[in-house]
Order: sequence, then structure tokens, then C-alpha cells
Amino acid sequence: MKNTFDNIIGGTKDIADKVAQKAASAVNVSRSYVDRAQLRLKMNAKLEELGRLCYNMHKTGADESGSMKMVIKELKVLDAQLEMAEEASGKPKICAFCGNKNNADNIYCARCGERL
Ligand SMILES: [Zn+2]
Repeated sequence: MKNTFDNIIGGTKDIADKVAQKAASAVNVSRSYVDRAQLRLKMNAKLEELGRLCYNMHKTGADESGSMKMVIKELKVLDAQLEMAEEASGKPKICAFCGNKNNADNIYCARCGERL
């Protein structure tokens, strides 16, 4: 039983290390619009997973706190990666029509479609 637990902890540590490595390598990579969109999709998927775990915990009383902590850890890394990618992409373009903060390489506002 203890071995199984150690394997799980070891496994999650490996995942966390790999995610941290990816975050570090992202510093030197100027990410494209598509990369940032993919990061947002990954974040949304993780947020959905977190919501599902939370819902399941309240619905069934199962202890999901370990899984939730892991997902939050992954979310923090993705959030940091996205922040770095957005900083690397340049100064955000503020929409004159609706005030939305758009990526520097956007031609149209992501919220209202106004040409930037
Ligand atoms: Zn707008």
C-alpha cells in the first residue's frame, strides 16, 4: 500500500517537474497567437476538471482534495506560461469601441470585432 502511494506521489512529482520545465523553456520562446490560444484552451480544460472534482466532492463526499491540489498546481504553471507568452507578444491593444484588452497581434477586437 505504501509503495503504491509512493508511486503516485513520485508520478505526480514527475508531472509537476515536466510542467515546470516547460514553463522555464517558455521564457525563451516567443509564442505565436496560436500557442497562446492553445494555452487558454488547456487552462479552460483544467478549470473544467477542477470544477468537476469540486462538484463530485460535494455530491458524493469523496475526498478529491489531492487531485484538486494537483490540478491547481498545473493551472498555476499554465497561467504563468500564458502571462509570459502575452508579455512576449508585446503591448496589448485596447479597443477604442469597447475597451477590451487585446493581444498585440490582433487586427480585430476579440470581444466586439472592431478593427484595432
Ligand atoms: Zn472591442
